Amino acid sequence: RPSVAFENVVFGYDPGRTILHGLSFEVPAGAHVAIVGPSGAGKSTIARLLFRFYDPWSGRVLIDGQDIARVTQASLRAAIGIVPQDSVLFNDTIGYNIAYGRNGATHDEIVRAARDAAILPLIERLPDGFETEVGERGLKLSGGEKQRVAIARTLVKNPPILLLDEATSALDSRTEQDILATLHRVSENRTSLSIAHRLSTIADADEILVMEHGRLAERGSHPVLLRAN
Ligand code: ADP
Ligand code: ADP
Repeated sequence: RPSVAFENVVFGYDPGRTILHGLSFEVPAGAHVAIVGPSGAGKSTIARLLFRFYDPWSGRVLIDGQDIARVTQASLRAAIGIVPQDSVLFNDTIGYNIAYGRNGATHDEIVRAARDAAILPLIERLPDGFETEVGERGLKLSGGEKQRVAIARTLVKNPPILLLDEATSALDSRTEQDILATLHRVSENRTSLSIAHRLSTIADADEILVMEHGRLAERGSHPVLLRAN
């Protein structure tokens, strides 16, 4: 379980417009850190730098103490599993959707990922099981079910780091609570970084970073921040 760290990261998309102003934080190995803040604060930018869609102007992004600019794209992708807000499924079978991105996943691994994502009971009720077509051509899944297939797709790669980018923001609050419980369970033996809007969705984080205008405005545990705000 690797640690993740941002070290004095300065970054912007356009010259002359700095978005992250020397950002530093650490997610210790196995810890769960959450980032909250208003829209435009720079939360998704952190995710994009972690995936190396962009490189910092200065400073470093480290995984297990190693500058990610020095690791291959393939090992970076293997290290980090992302669960985005709106997962797009292919017009294909549930099994294909789970195995996608993990070439050569065995049937057992697909079943295990489905179990970990708590979607196995649904699949067992379907006459065609993992062969069930989803999307426009086949079964319409609810938002929550789709999100669980996306979680299984991420878990089948067994990534040591999970990046949850507003993973439950698009769901109604009951579905959100169900899926949060699953995410909590599958994060247990991993290092995780959650990007969130609402404090209620990250109550179990070891540390919460509050971002404003590309800087850390506050940091602390959930009770400490609730007391302060
Ligand atoms: P890469 O290493 O990926 O080639 P660069 O470091 O060259 O990326 O920078 C990418 C973009 O950021 C470019 O458009 C560049 O003009 C801009 N940029 C880089 N450093 C700064 C800076 N200190 N201030 C403003 N813009 C910068
Ligand atoms: P958040 O995720 O906290 O809502 P973002 O990281 O998406 O914030 O955005 C931070 C800032 O960077 C915003 O001012 C946004 O307009 C700007 N920004 C985001 N993406 C781009 C881009 N591709 N090009 C230029 N500016 C961008």
